[in-house]
Amino acid sequence: MKSKIRSRKNKIYYYFVLIVFIIFAIFTIFKPEEKYNVILISIDTLRADHLGSYEYFRNTSPNIDKLAIEGFLFKNTFSQAPWTLPSHASIFTSKYPTYHGVINERNIICDITLTEVLKNNGYETIAYASKFGFVKGKFGFNRGFKEYTDINNLLRNNIQSAIEWLDNKRNGPFFLFLYGYDVHDPYLIPNRTEMRFDVDRKTNIPVTYEDLNKIIEEELQKSIYKLNESDIPVVRKIYWKHINQSSVEDKAIVKSMYDNKIALVDYHLGFLFNKLKELGIFDKTIIIITSDHGEEFWEHGGYKP
Ligand SMILES: [Zn+2]
Repeated sequence: MKSKIRSRKNKIYYYFVLIVFIIFAIFTIFKPEEKYNVILISIDTLRADHLGSYEYFRNTSPNIDKLAIEGFLFKNTFSQAPWTLPSHASIFTSKYPTYHGVINERNIICDITLTEVLKNNGYETIAYASKFGFVKGKFGFNRGFKEYTDINNLLRNNIQSAIEWLDNKRNGPFFLFLYGYDVHDPYLIPNRTEMRFDVDRKTNIPVTYEDLNKIIEEELQKSIYKLNESDIPVVRKIYWKHINQSSVEDKAIVKSMYDNKIALVDYHLGFLFNKLKELGIFDKTIIIITSDHGEEFWEHGGYKP
């Protein structure tokens, strides 16, 4: 009798184990498809050949390079246009400029965008873009975004905003677009302590915003106004007046300062990657780093400002 009871108990135990196993198997095999978060980062005017991952001689981009080693590095890609507006319209629509038609400032994106596709698939869509230039809501880049914030020109400020947003983000997949002019000319950095690649200290070329303000004060005996990183059009004009484009030394300094700006934005990208790791979502996030076009450093005979 005892033996029969024990046998029944054993059977019940085995059935229970079997049911648990089947439920586990069903959930493992048929679990709802987990969606990866997507972060698209566009660094305006970034030359691929000035990054470590593309064998540049300076260590400009350790954080981007690490991502390239752990992920995929595309070595044979092409901008669809040599300037910001049509190139970004191609990134968002997957169409050539002749098909999406956003080729001057009178055009706006009319095609379905990457953002809208993701939104229709349950993604929360957030952007931190730039108030200067062309990647603005009024050209249609805000299509499909729940929030499209374009109040900062610099990616490093937008990275900070994204980190704060991520801190409050709780659930659901997201598409985050980050954009900025950090490596665009003029090649000025906030201050010399942020300089990774030194330049000739005797040079008269401005390398910080303070340098440029001093030049203006000296030349005009007074400062018209205090320049800052948001005054890109004005700063560009004044900056290029102080570069001798036929001087080998000046050209070398310009390139070094461009590299300093890349290093600075790479440094700030490190904070974003660390935040994703801290939140435990780094491995559940597809991070895409790209640019709309490169930069000409006299390879084709000139500069354009
Ligand atoms: Zn651009």
